[in-house]
Amino acid sequence: MKKMTSAQVRQSFLDFFEARGHTIVPSTSLVPVNDPTLLFTNAGMNQFKDVFLDLGDRPYTRAADTQKCMRVSGKHNDLEDVGRDEIHHTFFEMLGNWSFGDYYKKEAIAWAWELLTEVWELPKERLWVTVFEDDRGDLPTDDEAAGFWRSETDVDSAHILFFGRKDNFWEMAETGPCGPNSEIHYDMGPTACTMQNKPGHVCQVNGEYCGRFVELWNLVFIQYNREADGSLHPLPAKHVDTGMGFERTVAVLQGVGSDYKTDLFTPIIRRVQEMTGHTDAEVKENIVAYRVIADHGRAITFLVGDGVLPGNEGRNYVLRMILRRAARFGRKAGFTGPFLAEVAKVVIETMGSVFPELANRRQFILTTITQEEERFLRTLDVGLSENEQFLDFQIELRDKTLQELNRQVDVISQLPSTAEMGKAMYQMANKVLEAQKSVLDKSQHQWREYLEQITEAVQQQMAKAVQPVLGATQKQMAKAIQPALEEAQKQVARILDSVPGDVAFRLYDTFGLPLEITRDVAEERGLSVDEAGYRKALEEQRQRARQADRFEFQDEETLKRYTEILEDLQRQGLLDEAGVVHDPYATTELETTTVAILRDGKRVKLAKEGDQVELVLSATCFYVKSGGQVSDMGFVSAYPPDGTEPVWEIAIQDVRHPVPGLIVHAGVVQLGRPRVGDAAWAIVDYERRMDIARNHTATHLLHSELRYILGEHVQQAGSLVTPDRLRFDFTHPAMLTEDELNLVTQSVNDAILVNYPVEIGQEEYQQAVSEGVIALFGEKYGDVVRVLRIGWPGEPFSQELCGGTHVHETGEIGLFHIVSEESVGAGVRRIEAVTGRAAVELVEHQTGILKRTAAYLGVTPEEVDRKVLGLLDELQSTRKEIARLQEQLARREFETLMEQVKTVAGVSLLNARVRAPSMDVLREMTDWFRDRLLSGVVALGTVLEERPALVVAVTPDLVERGVDAAKLVRGMAQLIGGGGGGKPTLAQAGGRDPNRLDDALGQAPQLLEEML
Ligand SMILES: [Zn+2]
Ligand SMILES: [Zn+2]
Repeated sequence: MKKMTSAQVRQSFLDFFEARGHTIVPSTSLVPVNDPTLLFTNAGMNQFKDVFLDLGDRPYTRAADTQKCMRVSGKHNDLEDVGRDEIHHTFFEMLGNWSFGDYYKKEAIAWAWELLTEVWELPKERLWVTVFEDDRGDLPTDDEAAGFWRSETDVDSAHILFFGRKDNFWEMAETGPCGPNSEIHYDMGPTACTMQNKPGHVCQVNGEYCGRFVELWNLVFIQYNREADGSLHPLPAKHVDTGMGFERTVAVLQGVGSDYKTDLFTPIIRRVQEMTGHTDAEVKENIVAYRVIADHGRAITFLVGDGVLPGNEGRNYVLRMILRRAARFGRKAGFTGPFLAEVAKVVIETMGSVFPELANRRQFILTTITQEEERFLRTLDVGLSENEQFLDFQIELRDKTLQELNRQVDVISQLPSTAEMGKAMYQMANKVLEAQKSVLDKSQHQWREYLEQITEAVQQQMAKAVQPVLGATQKQMAKAIQPALEEAQKQVARILDSVPGDVAFRLYDTFGLPLEITRDVAEERGLSVDEAGYRKALEEQRQRARQADRFEFQDEETLKRYTEILEDLQRQGLLDEAGVVHDPYATTELETTTVAILRDGKRVKLAKEGDQVELVLSATCFYVKSGGQVSDMGFVSAYPPDGTEPVWEIAIQDVRHPVPGLIVHAGVVQLGRPRVGDAAWAIVDYERRMDIARNHTATHLLHSELRYILGEHVQQAGSLVTPDRLRFDFTHPAMLTEDELNLVTQSVNDAILVNYPVEIGQEEYQQAVSEGVIALFGEKYGDVVRVLRIGWPGEPFSQELCGGTHVHETGEIGLFHIVSEESVGAGVRRIEAVTGRAAVELVEHQTGILKRTAAYLGVTPEEVDRKVLGLLDELQSTRKEIARLQEQLARREFETLMEQVKTVAGVSLLNARVRAPSMDVLREMTDWFRDRLLSGVVALGTVLEERPALVVAVTPDLVERGVDAAKLVRGMAQLIGGGGGGKPTLAQAGGRDPNRLDDALGQAPQLLEEML
């Protein structure tokens, strides 16, 4: 075997195929070009997909390359495996050679063999090959390939193996190009097997993966096209598509067994070791962290190099997530500050000559990584310590619960009679809950509700497990008890071993800990995470965020109707090919012609005063809602040849774009009788348009200042520009501090006061982007785009693609004032602001309030805050005093109540009317009752603000006997004309009729008796 560096391996592959007539093509970006179906480029063939689909051409018929690939999910690429073994990666290179209707199986096989055995000198006896043989018997065996392996190579014929569709048949998708493939595997030798101790394990190609046989190279022969009906048709031009895992091949050639021991990774690992100061033994102890840092460090360097920025959706999220995961493992390995840029430097140094984008964007890559890492580290400590704190609680809760449960199970198992065992089981849940209480009481803070969720689930599970024993005969019981106990132990352990999804979501939403990190941390402590629950919580929040921004839905019928109108107008020659002439920029008043009037969706010749109509004009200067900017309002009016008073006038309230080419003005006829064919003026409400323009230009200033102040990760996530205000959604992981908000406000106002010119240019898209213009990912642009630049000529500080209307100079904006800042989704913030007239009005209005408040308080406006703080203090202590007195009263009343406890069918019951100041106190009184009587039912009623209220509590032992607080409270609530609900242990209800409260309470004994 030839000893080679990874660079030599890569180069010798390319040289080999270049010498055989292949064009060497550069790797495409990790962000797939023109393929919305793919998150990341994940195979060498991605860039040639159009050729295989017969949609594109290349000037060559033979090509070879090394392709950057990313895989973050999928059957062999679960992220949690990365770092834990030798072979999983997120980022990797794939070497490949292609024939587009040129050479075929014979050459592909002969060259693969020649490169591996003669150029790289791999021992032939270690190589195995696989060939397609249909396991379903429909398709012919690839005898052709098997034949060439025998005739063109000297592979040991016993090493030619046949496999079915799963391993040896390749399909691009459900339909389309497909064909058999032939793989080359390498035998790492018996000692490489990691399953030597597993009984029944046999090392084999495509067998249970044990590290002994590794796949090096896959040769795909594209010879069929699969039709929609599932049938296969031979392609006229047959193709070859091969892929070789570069890292694995280097590991084999360097004889190191692990990808991480190749020179692709060792320089990174060495650099990290230098920084941590670890000894070799310490590196070994922390090997998982080292591997994760090395793998993820490569991935983030390449991703940022391809222009991906950290964010919260799609590939931006993937980058953020793996960067944070690497940072977290860095923390584990002993780093206290940012270090990933150092890792990126090594990657750029070692790979920059092969992938020049890394060297070209060096500074951008390093800055982006460090910014995101710093941002994360600021919250990481808090997030991790919150995470640990919760895990401490959960583990303690688990241990206490299981300890008590096991103890109970032991005690029960040793009881002398089944009758006693059954009885003891009733008490089991109660005892366990008691044991859990100490943990719950300790956790009096934000985590308590989640821990209660767990105890609740445990209680339910135990009630379920005990179910088969309840009401069983002695004989049945004897049989049922043991399995019931075991089931309870098993299910309870399952609940306790899983961190609730809501907790994982909270950690992500509040502290920026990606699920993957929460999962890593939990796994290190032997727990799993309820990922389905996490996704549910995430989805719920997204739904909430989306509600505000629901896009308008157009049904198909409406679409059809407007298409017909457009086509008809074009046929009549009233509109040309391009439809309505539309220019909202040049003017706000335009002479035009009415070409169609619609009333109730139907075309009419004329309309009269008061009609609600839709109007189509041959040309218009009204802006139509797009890019977040709302439509213009205004008038369409007709004038006599020499008059200034309109003969008819329509007030336009909305303008829409139902189908491309058609613009519809919706409004009400204010005056006269508009007719189809009339000449008319389209007049935009200029004041309103200016208000909108102020807000739109201010949005661009805001965007630019946010990026400047918070960082380049800020990306627009949504925008609304109306005459009253502007709303801007952007990616940022944390709430803005007051300082940041003040700085943003001040910077925007500074930019307004400087009175920068605002310039609009028409440019070719690619050129605009190359000049650094911000383009929104996912939006479609034509070849020529409109670019808005703000700043002195030649030095714009804001440049964005934009189709909106703007002021000419920033000074026209007047005043910019932020009204609110809030979260609208994971990592997305929203700022609402006002400008111009609205800002002045707001300031006047708020100053007025301040002045009046000062007058009420008898102080000057400057003294208002101090005065109010003083009053609040006073109020708070008064309230405390009142609450103390109320509780004292309630306590006293409660003592007299305890004398009224009665017994119903052997169960203690207290049903009484009390005076309680609030539902909280009422519920608290039921707690006092339960503290006093360990077993019983309490039903308390009171009148709060003239409405009757009820609370029922039941001790858990009685819940097991079928008593249900929710049912009880609902039964009683019927009499007071209300309803309610809750848990079997605690429920409440409200009603309308306070006069029947005593009757309702009087129902309690009967309702209880029916349950027992
Ligand atoms: Zn094995
Ligand atoms: Zn804009």
